[in-house]
Amino acid sequence: MTDPVALLSEYVRIDTSNPPGDCRRAAELLCGALRESGLSPVTFGARPEKPNVLCHAGGTEEPGLVLIHHMDVVPARAEEWSVPPFSAEVRDGFLYGRGTLDTKGLGVAHWCAALRAAKAGILRRKLFLVANADEEVGGVEGAEYFVRNLPFPIGAAYGMNEGGVGVTDIFGGGGKFFLLNMWEKGPVWMRLSASGRAGHGSRPSARDAPARLIRALTRVAELREPARLTEPVREMLRVLRAKGYVDLDVDALQRGAGEAEALEALVAKFPEIDPLVRNTYAVTTLAAGFKPNVIPASAEGTVDARIVPGEDPEEVAGRVRAMVADLNVPVEILFAEKPNGSPMGPLYGAMEEAILAVHPDAVVVPYMSTGFTDSRFFRSIGIPTYGLMPVLLPRAEHGKIHGVDERIPVAGIGEMTEIVYKLIEGWNA
Ligand SMILES: [Zn+2]
Repeated sequence: MTDPVALLSEYVRIDTSNPPGDCRRAAELLCGALRESGLSPVTFGARPEKPNVLCHAGGTEEPGLVLIHHMDVVPARAEEWSVPPFSAEVRDGFLYGRGTLDTKGLGVAHWCAALRAAKAGILRRKLFLVANADEEVGGVEGAEYFVRNLPFPIGAAYGMNEGGVGVTDIFGGGGKFFLLNMWEKGPVWMRLSASGRAGHGSRPSARDAPARLIRALTRVAELREPARLTEPVREMLRVLRAKGYVDLDVDALQRGAGEAEALEALVAKFPEIDPLVRNTYAVTTLAAGFKPNVIPASAEGTVDARIVPGEDPEEVAGRVRAMVADLNVPVEILFAEKPNGSPMGPLYGAMEEAILAVHPDAVVVPYMSTGFTDSRFFRSIGIPTYGLMPVLLPRAEHGKIHGVDERIPVAGIGEMTEIVYKLIEGWNA
């Protein structure tokens, strides 16, 4: 089956909510489509419920192209949705369903474009299709297992994964912006905990665990570090200036002198750029107490920090530790990844050309994502990987990813497949 809308409908109807993230039926669907076209996919995983799919779709030369997506989705609460989240219902020109944007739609575009290219006999360079399990819970049994247990070598190759998007309302205007994810900020999840004496609510003390935790978390939540440029953001701003969207000339800025002031003026105008020029610190969970008139002996909260390139998770945690040391609130790292990315390379130009072939008036922008994806695992084995789901949407629609009423325009499914086909075509020209 190589009609993208039909394949996506069937894919969305397979509930791969993670947890538990059982991807067996999804892998069977994807492998079935490949076998029907005479290809030989391989599945392998740490457990039967967590298959990872790899298929060499054709080609012998290098560098190859690796098309990557994940099969699992985050859970959906049916009672909050306008349509059942795994029904793939079409309404008002949209195909609804959990995973339509994250990332079954991208996977279907990869699959259908690759099958068309294989059939057309245009594959000179190696083309690989990849579908991973487990992305939504960290990728340990998904992409991490995949890159460490490859059944055959992929060789020199470039990767295309999720992470970047097409946006119609950003940088102060209407337009067709395709944000190509070259870099990702690093997550640093920390737990802050306070312990002390339990006591009666009528006899409080400033030393009580909840009181100290609140003071510590307030300091972290209000932390706003000076804005600064990193190479990925510099590249983005150069392109935006060349296209006339921003005035700031980053190459004229002297490091340190006036940099922070110039960036503050920029982010005041474009708030969406703010998290790209500094580390961010969000207080995400709070836990303490069990009764209104009892002071609990312990309290804890978590902070989700996202750090810019050049920062180190241990050093960032060390600074937070120093900030709250006087409150006797220990800070422990729960999970951290360094910021990671891939340098500008030949895949960038190929992706830009493919996008412009379908949307001649689009602006392609090198971007640093505030979130993180499986791309870090592929980058770790030497596959420069860029993130892009090439479907154009207003920001509010992208906001439905992981939310309610996730949906994709039916017309966008075909456009996205066409962009991936043009990319394969250009890569093999
Ligand atoms: Zn996701």
